[in-house]
Amino acid sequence: MPKAKETVLEIDLAALKHNYRYFKSRIKPDTQFMGVVKAFAYGSDSVAIAKKLQELGANYLAVAYVKEGVALRKEGITIPILVLHPLPVSFKKLIKHCLEPNLYSEKILHEFLEAAHKLGQKNYPVHLKFNTGLNRLGFKEDEVVKVCKLVKAKEQIQVKSIFSHLAASEDLNEKAFTKGQIKAFDRIYSKMTDILQEKPFRHLLNTSGIVNYPDAQYELVRSGIGLYGYGNEAAVDEQLRPVAQLKTIISQIHTISAGETIGYNRKFKSDCIKISATLPVGHADGIGRQYGNGKGFVVINGKKAHILGNVCMDMIMVDITDIECKAGDEVIVFGTDASAENFAAEAGTISYELLTGISRRVKRRILNK
Ligand SMILES: *Cc1c(COP(=O)(O)O)cnc(C)c1O
Repeated sequence: MPKAKETVLEIDLAALKHNYRYFKSRIKPDTQFMGVVKAFAYGSDSVAIAKKLQELGANYLAVAYVKEGVALRKEGITIPILVLHPLPVSFKKLIKHCLEPNLYSEKILHEFLEAAHKLGQKNYPVHLKFNTGLNRLGFKEDEVVKVCKLVKAKEQIQVKSIFSHLAASEDLNEKAFTKGQIKAFDRIYSKMTDILQEKPFRHLLNTSGIVNYPDAQYELVRSGIGLYGYGNEAAVDEQLRPVAQLKTIISQIHTISAGETIGYNRKFKSDCIKISATLPVGHADGIGRQYGNGKGFVVINGKKAHILGNVCMDMIMVDITDIECKAGDEVIVFGTDASAENFAAEAGTISYELLTGISRRVKRRILNK
């Protein structure tokens, strides 16, 4: 691997392949797989990830918004794409690019029916989402009869799937709640199929759902974070490989005398001689201020170097007092040997937020295409 010469997010498609195969091995052979590639494929590179998932045989992709799906279609992604949170303002675009909407409320359903009718659509594939406890998007269980009436005999759409989303699939203290969600989903589905006399496919599980509730796979599972190498628990993380690795270099080294301070607002005050390294990565790149003042650390020549003082927009300063290194040396912010999950945890957040926050200013380098 060539050493980094600037701040770069390496995206390892061999790691993606490994993680994909791992989750495929945990589901039944006939369960379909949806790769979740919203938010630039969790901050990596949605086109490179989507192309690889398509090549690996993923059945479906999911994005949050229509423009994310359009970007994939423009790059030659042909497999079905579910849009998890489509807004009416982009329904026309959604249809033009053959993206499949999640319809989650009466208002959205009406507006989609109208848009599909206007554009002369027949049997346009749609997905109905039910709220079983997350209270974010979805019809309520007591709306089943009404929803069936609204979709039945509407020639412009075809209900391809019925789905829901778990609120706490990674938290085993919430097992009873999650089992209640699964039961509610089963009731909703059997009522829907009774009335509609059709059998759309079902899906409920995200990454931690696949791990903790294998009996609720139904016909398809939706995985995001696991594909990128994080499984929300150590035993799963051990089986996975991080796809994204954030690297940078040392720009300058300073010797700080006792009594001097480092960075804005003089937040770090030295009580002895310290050596600091300045790195070209800051909060504008996605390393937020919450990682400052000793919370976050980077790895230089195999050793931890904690962030000194406040995170600046374009830079951080780290403590290299006990590390042998020089200007130009490579620095690992997170990745293979320094998990993004641990880095995020230091500042009280989760891998999802750290990964999706790496800004577009950071160059992406795709490895093992
Ligand atoms: C983001 C998302 C997922 C993926 O969740 P992971 O925990 O990353 O696997 C699945 N389903 C829905 C509805 C989502 O919004």
